[in-house]
Amino acid sequence: MAIAPNLNGSITLSIVIPIYNEEANLSHLFERVLNSVQGLNITYEIICINDGSRDNSLDQLIHYHKENSAIKIINFSRNFGKDIALSAGLDYACGAAVIPLDADLQDPPELMTHLLEKWRQGYDVVYATRRDRQGESWLKRVSSQRFYRLLGRVSDVPIPQDTGDFRLMDRRVVEALKQLPERNRFMKGLFAWVGYRQVAIEYDRPPRYAGRSKWNYWQLWNFALDGITAFSLIPLKVWSYLGLGISILALVYAIFLVIRTLIYGIDVPGYASLMVAVLFMGGVQLISLGVIGEYLGRVYEEVKGRPLYLVRDLYGFEGKNQLEGG
Ligand code: UDP
Ligand code: MG
Repeated sequence: MAIAPNLNGSITLSIVIPIYNEEANLSHLFERVLNSVQGLNITYEIICINDGSRDNSLDQLIHYHKENSAIKIINFSRNFGKDIALSAGLDYACGAAVIPLDADLQDPPELMTHLLEKWRQGYDVVYATRRDRQGESWLKRVSSQRFYRLLGRVSDVPIPQDTGDFRLMDRRVVEALKQLPERNRFMKGLFAWVGYRQVAIEYDRPPRYAGRSKWNYWQLWNFALDGITAFSLIPLKVWSYLGLGISILALVYAIFLVIRTLIYGIDVPGYASLMVAVLFMGGVQLISLGVIGEYLGRVYEEVKGRPLYLVRDLYGFEGKNQLEGG
């Protein structure tokens, strides 16, 4: 169960940072984040989720927490993935506005002033759209562009293109997100699903400050599958229509064969057409089974109802005595 936020109205902005093996980025990260946030003249907290880092990130985080109590740490029991870390951050955040940030400084903290400006104008979600992606390979750029285009076409809710998790969310949006029970946290889609008054601002996405992206192409592929299965039923439904089409073609062909046999007598050769039909149908059936499996597997994940994440330690959340999330 999500923890009730400590809404004493004292914190305006919560910055949520998922961290997985980011020791090389942390000092620069806090320098820049603190610089920008202290210039804003608002009360803030910085919630860092240590997502099972295997390097020194946690020790460093504890060091920063001791220096500045506005830096709070949620230490996961293992690596749960970025989207889940983000959800945990939202569960624990108590600011009137929440901004998730990547630890690698790909989301420039200086942009937070612009996000807050729009928020004060009355928007509930201010998302930052990337104008440009520096330092990413051609293949990654093209495949991600294709994916978002496809997702936009098949998804039931419009998901803005070239938009990451970097955005400002009003408290009411955060509360809405916390009500979504699914385990498959395709955040970009969930952000879009909740709706509210949204507005975009543009920025140039810089390359990672240090370290390497944790994504490989297999993970990106699975991420894409998660997104599509979570926000579209088209892959599941298309098979009835394909089956219908093939059945009609088969019927026409059958009628043709019967008539031909009646007119010209029995005709034995036909190995090629038989083989093609059998193989084609076998392939189509396996693909459709696979698609059903993709959805079924996800249904199974949801039905198990395990908690979304497990917290090992909390630093800086003295008011909160709950240790498990989800
Ligand atoms: N991250 C995380 N858990 C993971 C992978 C990544 O918390 O399992 C964090 C990572 O530390 C960073 C953010 O998610 O703050 C974005 O990760 P990355 O830069 O690898 O992703 P990309 O920018 O390439 O999408
Ligand atoms: Mg990154």
